[in-house]
Amino acid sequence: MAPIRSREIHLVNRPEGLPEPGDFAIVETTIDEPRDGEVQVRNLWLSVDPYMRGLMWTTRTYVDPYHLGEVMTGGAVGTVEASRHPKLSEGDLVLSNHGWRDRFVASGDGVHPIDPNLAPPQAYLGVMGMPGFTAWLGIHEIGRLEAGEAIFVSGAAGAVGSVACQLARRLGAKVVGSAGSDEKVQWLQDKAGITAFNYRKVKHLYRQLVRECRDGFHVYFDNVGGGHLEAALLSMRDFGRVVLCGMIGQYNADHPPAGPSSLIVAITKRLTMRGFIAFDHAELEPRFQAEMAGLIARGHVRWTETVYDGLDSAPAAFLGLFSGANTGKMLVRL
Ligand code: NDP
Repeated sequence: MAPIRSREIHLVNRPEGLPEPGDFAIVETTIDEPRDGEVQVRNLWLSVDPYMRGLMWTTRTYVDPYHLGEVMTGGAVGTVEASRHPKLSEGDLVLSNHGWRDRFVASGDGVHPIDPNLAPPQAYLGVMGMPGFTAWLGIHEIGRLEAGEAIFVSGAAGAVGSVACQLARRLGAKVVGSAGSDEKVQWLQDKAGITAFNYRKVKHLYRQLVRECRDGFHVYFDNVGGGHLEAALLSMRDFGRVVLCGMIGQYNADHPPAGPSSLIVAITKRLTMRGFIAFDHAELEPRFQAEMAGLIARGHVRWTETVYDGLDSAPAAFLGLFSGANTGKMLVRL
């Protein structure tokens, strides 16, 4: 048998500050045929996620960091090319976490079939996958948002934020979102049906939040940290809940910035601030998927994608997360 060829993206340098294209390398490789219990998968879609930046430092966060000279692991959707696993067959569409590569051979136990009748395959990396689940957890489990309440969502036009906004709106909440371009704001208003503003055009974020919601927010869904968190804390109602989902604004900082100068209001307003990591809540994923499939089937949740083509474009797509190049889920199509 001819060797099976693949190409993969390796991290070859730990970035300081904003990563650069030279921190990544495209590596040609050959892989062995599957043995008993294994599958061979050709990837169709790769996920590009902000958390990957956290895995580029040497220190362990909630998972081990990337090793230099090894593949950038992460979510991917692909098709089974050959199977020696009893539950997987050639042609099955599957979700895996083997990352930025054309194809791989691995144990079939870590490769999960997806149903393309419920949503397009790549949606399992977005609205039907980890980002959608994160949004769902943040709104329902962590933020405990209720009908009639007001919520502010930062990073509102991203993969997590855009779903969070729509779940909140469907609950009957007043939803205000911030995003970094007029096009994103338009999408949020027209497709997600929420009130939104372009934070890059706003001089004073706190005053903008007061204009949007004079009585203050019951919940803040934080995706960016920094000035957003600082302003949002000031604009919370008493006993408000702050959902600490992500702080992309500081992922490239070599030294952690000082905390929000407004933190003292967490005392006076008696706020609850709660961080969470989606994979700690795996037992809720089947419930999320059933609910999200229903919402999608009824056209109650919209989503959008920003697609880069070809494996070589994965680093550029990743860097694009930090300049706001994506509306909705950032993906690479192979
Ligand atoms: P997004 O699709 O939202 O992509 C990133 C977006 O962040 C960019 O498009 C940009 O949008 C915005 N952004 C980048 N830099 C800055 C900055 N300095 N200040 C303000 N906005 C910035 O990513 P995801 O939806 O995948 O993730 C959103 C957040 O959720 C991230 O912080 C991520 O780490 C976190 N997350 C947390 C999880 C958990 O389990 N806790 C799981 C998954 C994600 P714009 O143009 O609007 O600036």
